[in-house]
Amino acid sequence: MVLRRYLRKNEIMESLFNFTLEELQTTLSLSKNFVAKQVWNWLYCCGVKSFDEMTNISKQLRQKLVEQYSIKRPFILKDLTSIDGTRKWLVKLNDGEKIEIVYIPEEDRGTLCISTQAGCGMGCRFCSTGSQGLTRNLEVFEIVWEIILARDCLDEWKNISKGIGNGRKITNIVLMGMGEPLNNYDNVVKALKIINDENGMAFSNRRITLSTCGIAPKIYDLARDIKINLAISLHAATDEIRKKIMPIAESFSIDEIMKACSVYAKSTNYRRITFEYIMIKDINDSIAEAEKLVKLVKKYNVPAKFNLIPFNYWVGCTFKEPSDIKKIMRFAAYITNARYPCPIRLSKGGDIMAACGQLKTSTRDF
Ligand code: SF4
Repeated sequence: MVLRRYLRKNEIMESLFNFTLEELQTTLSLSKNFVAKQVWNWLYCCGVKSFDEMTNISKQLRQKLVEQYSIKRPFILKDLTSIDGTRKWLVKLNDGEKIEIVYIPEEDRGTLCISTQAGCGMGCRFCSTGSQGLTRNLEVFEIVWEIILARDCLDEWKNISKGIGNGRKITNIVLMGMGEPLNNYDNVVKALKIINDENGMAFSNRRITLSTCGIAPKIYDLARDIKINLAISLHAATDEIRKKIMPIAESFSIDEIMKACSVYAKSTNYRRITFEYIMIKDINDSIAEAEKLVKLVKKYNVPAKFNLIPFNYWVGCTFKEPSDIKKIMRFAAYITNARYPCPIRLSKGGDIMAACGQLKTSTRDF
């Protein structure tokens, strides 16, 4: 029998991607845990797009799912592939808001960069998303959607059974797209628990990185709730320079952020914390700043690594790109010599506006 489908008038059905495994069992009033796991498996290991495909689930339960829940994906407005293989999607959410998702394939890994808010209210002056302002937080299912959608587009579902790092295209998740994840704390943590669940998508904590511009009190919450990798958008070694780049520096000092980082590192058994450092010409690119960075992480005894990212100009930004590659290399060498890893991250996907927020900014009329 073909299952009867209908959408109740004027009502958007709740997404099944909103629930943790435990919640799924309770919500669906399932007396047996293995049935919830079967549904979970269809969602997160098989990537089914209709409840009809859940062939080992009773017709009665499938009927209930059809009538009350949704597993539909968001609408893709743009799907772009760069000459370097970077892929970017601009997607439209149910209420018309747009977010970006970026996939970066490398030799030994495939990183998916996801968004946590539509727009961002932090206003970092080097960031295109920051110029858009915040529209709203993403719901749990909208954050989970980003991975589901990327797996659909990368034809990834057939690789899932091979296990992480063994033929899979998406091996790492980074929360570095649009938005400040710690300002959407509850939804982000719940989505991460779904992404992390070993019965489903099974991305281990070590393969998930959350990047924050430094909402210090929330870093303590994170230390309590989930042990993922932490990255700090630092971009300056002193509050004075940081305030020129990031308005959040008016609220939380580097001292407060570093103290929180120290506690976070302890909670993860001293896993390295990544400090993102965008090099902006004549603002923060002198060797004196590199010296201060090293002193800073030593002072707070934080196990650290740095990512050096030459600023990429976008229309409307007043900052300039660093023009001297030797200067960047000297900066990196100073930090590396102090025994902190400091790779220079050249931007990827420039031909498809892959940097955070650029594609959305350029397509305001969609
Ligand atoms: S860098 Fe991150 S926190 Fe800052 S404005 Fe951009 S998206 Fe927001």
